[in-house]
Amino acid sequence: MSALPPLLRLLYRGSLESCNYACDYCPFAKARESQAHMQRDRAEVERFVAWARTYPGRLGILFTPWGEALVRPWYRAALRELSRLPQVERVAIQTNLAAPLDFVAASDTDALALWATYHPTQVTRARFLARCRELDALGARYSVGVVGLREHFAELRALRAELPAGVYLWVNAYKRDPDYYTPREVAWLTELDPHFALNLRAHASLGQACRTGSSTLSVDGEGTLRRCHFVDAPLGNLYQDALAELLRERPCPNARCGCFIGYAHLERLELDAEFGPNLLERIPARYARPGVASGQGAPTMRR
Ligand code: SF4
Ligand code: SF4
Repeated sequence: MSALPPLLRLLYRGSLESCNYACDYCPFAKARESQAHMQRDRAEVERFVAWARTYPGRLGILFTPWGEALVRPWYRAALRELSRLPQVERVAIQTNLAAPLDFVAASDTDALALWATYHPTQVTRARFLARCRELDALGARYSVGVVGLREHFAELRALRAELPAGVYLWVNAYKRDPDYYTPREVAWLTELDPHFALNLRAHASLGQACRTGSSTLSVDGEGTLRRCHFVDAPLGNLYQDALAELLRERPCPNARCGCFIGYAHLERLELDAEFGPNLLERIPARYARPGVASGQGAPTMRR
């Protein structure tokens, strides 16, 4: 007989396709949505929260929007409510941290977490770090990251020096040019982010065991379920189908998996052990709770 997994992880990506920032490499930069589009997104999020309210098992949820969601009040309300549901072990969101953070004070910070990205072309470091300090004061758990473009290196170094030691800094490798980094740069980036090497390559995954499809699913605004964001074939619908009957182990059908929200679930990488209960928000388990005052200093790169 089919059963629900001990912990069901869901990656939610609804209709939102807009952002308050304008990073020049991003299709959602300064995109605007119609009122109708926003209302649809809001209704989808509220439906998802209503579904979670009655889910009979343990849940981990990561919002992975196309764009910035926290600037919309319904996402803040969703995180606040989801964090307080007893069955929600973790609810996290990818964000640029520009939105008001008042909702954090009204959330359960044992369950809430933020996956924050610093965009040096869009916000000053001082302003971004002020947001991090707000999160520290509120006792919120968060990771901070930057796209590892060479023009960001000075900011990366400064950010690491100024962040509390208990905050994990991840670096997303720039992978469009396979020879982008020198060995020295890789060594320095690995000192900053001990998991940088993992992000530096797309992992061979064809035919390999991956928890997506059995204990992790991606869900869109209409409830369409897929095993992950990178495999298009639908598995069913969250609001219409019996979940336990959809879930089973399936080998990966793609040649490679190059994004943390995907390869985090590739079994051979054993990231569940490394990140433990903080896998969704990308915080290695050994990192302390926030609020640690001292910076750990930044490694220097010899050129
Ligand atoms: S903050 Fe993120 S979503 Fe917004 S424009 Fe920059 S990369 Fe795109
Ligand atoms: S390895 Fe990546 S692409 Fe393959 S099923 Fe898992 S998450 Fe999806």
